[in-house]
Amino acid sequence: MELPGIYGESSAQTANYARFDVEFVRGEGVHLYDASGAEYLDFLCGLGVTSLGHCHPAVVEAIERRSRELIHTSNLFWSSPAEELARRLTAASFASNVFFCNSGAEANEAAIKLARAHAVAQGSNAREIVVLERAFHGRTMGALSATPQEDKQAPFTPLVHGFRTAPNDDADAVAAAVTPQTCAVMLEPVQGEGGVFPIPDAVLVAAREACDAVGALLIFDEVQCGLGRTGSLFAYQQTSVVPDVMTLAKALGGGLPIGAMLAGEGCTDALQPGYHGSTFGGNPVTCAAACAAFELLSDDELLEHVRGLGELLRGRLDEYGPVAGRGLMLGVELGDDVDARDVVKHMLFEGRVIANSTGPSTLRFLPPFVASAGDVDRAIAALDSALSAI
Ligand SMILES: *Cc1c(COP(=O)(O)O)cnc(C)c1O
Repeated sequence: MELPGIYGESSAQTANYARFDVEFVRGEGVHLYDASGAEYLDFLCGLGVTSLGHCHPAVVEAIERRSRELIHTSNLFWSSPAEELARRLTAASFASNVFFCNSGAEANEAAIKLARAHAVAQGSNAREIVVLERAFHGRTMGALSATPQEDKQAPFTPLVHGFRTAPNDDADAVAAAVTPQTCAVMLEPVQGEGGVFPIPDAVLVAAREACDAVGALLIFDEVQCGLGRTGSLFAYQQTSVVPDVMTLAKALGGGLPIGAMLAGEGCTDALQPGYHGSTFGGNPVTCAAACAAFELLSDDELLEHVRGLGELLRGRLDEYGPVAGRGLMLGVELGDDVDARDVVKHMLFEGRVIANSTGPSTLRFLPPFVASAGDVDRAIAALDSALSAI
C-alpha cells in the first residue's frame, strides 16, 4: 500500500493525539530525517526515550542478533536477557529484584499493586497512596488515579479509590498527608509534565521519614528522570533519600517498549505467584536491547557529559526565562505573553529543531546524551528565531 506520509483527517488511527504534520523516515544519532531528506535536530528524544540517539549501533545489533534467535516465549519459562537485565539493574541500584512490563504506566501499576500487597503481607489494612500535585504517573486507570490533573482525569471517573494528593513543595504538608492508612508515597523526584520541577530535598526527606514511621513504601517514579537523564544513573542518587521501590521505562529499551519496577529489601516478595503478570514482560528482544542500552547509559564518562552539556544548555536558556530541571531534563518558563506551543511549531518547521511544551508557557528539552555543544548552539538559534518571529 502506498501511503502519502501525512494522513490528517483521513487517518484510520484513533484521534487521541494532536500530531504535527511531519513524518520521520530515518534517524541517526541526534538527527531525524523526513522523506524529502531534510534533517532535524531531535532535542526531545521521542519524549525521553532515545537518550543514546537514534538507532544506536549497539542497540540495533542486540535487536538483530536476539530476534534471529528467539522473539517470545512468555513468563512460563526462564529467559536469560531478562535475568541479565535484572542483575544489571539491581547491581547498579538499591534494589534487590525487578518486575518487567512494557511501559511506564504499567511499571507504576505494578508499584501500586506491590504497595497494597506489601501492606497486606504486614497484616495492615492501609490502602491509601499519597501522590504529589502536578504529578504524572501514566494513563491507565490506576496510574491515572495517581495523576492529580483535572483535565486528564475528568472524562474517566470514577477513578481508582485511595489516592490522596499533597503539595509538591511543602515538607510538613507531605508528612501530614501520611497516616496509618497510608501504604505508600509515590512521586517523581524530578517532575516532568506540567513544567519541569525537581522536588525539594526537604520534601523527599519528609516523605521518607513519614513512610518509615507508618511502615509505608516510598516509590520513586523515575520513568522520565531515571537512566542518566538528570546526570546521575538514577535521579535518587542526587538526593539524600533512597526509595523502597523505583519504576523505570522510557529510555530503558534504547527505543523499544519496556518498563521495570525495582523493589528493595523489605518488599521483594510482596507480589506472590499469581498476583501480577504481563504476557510480553521480560521479552528477550526488548531485554537484549535494554542490556545494550543500559551498559552505555551507565557509563561514567557519558553521565559526566550529560552534566556538562546540561550546564551549558541551562546557561543558554537562562537568557530566555527561569530554567528548572537537572542534567538534560530542562524546562524554561517563557513568560505569560508567549504561547510555548507556537514556539515549538516555529522551531520544528523553521529551525528544524524538536522540543515540546509542557504547560502554556513552558518549553521542555530532553536532548540526547550524545549531543554536542554545537547542537546546543543550533537549538538555541532556533529558539531565538522562533521568539523573534512570534
Ligand atoms: C511518561 C511517563 C509515564 C508513563 O509512561 P508510559 O510509557 O507512557 O506509560 C509515567 N511516569 C512518568 C514520570 C513519565 O514521564
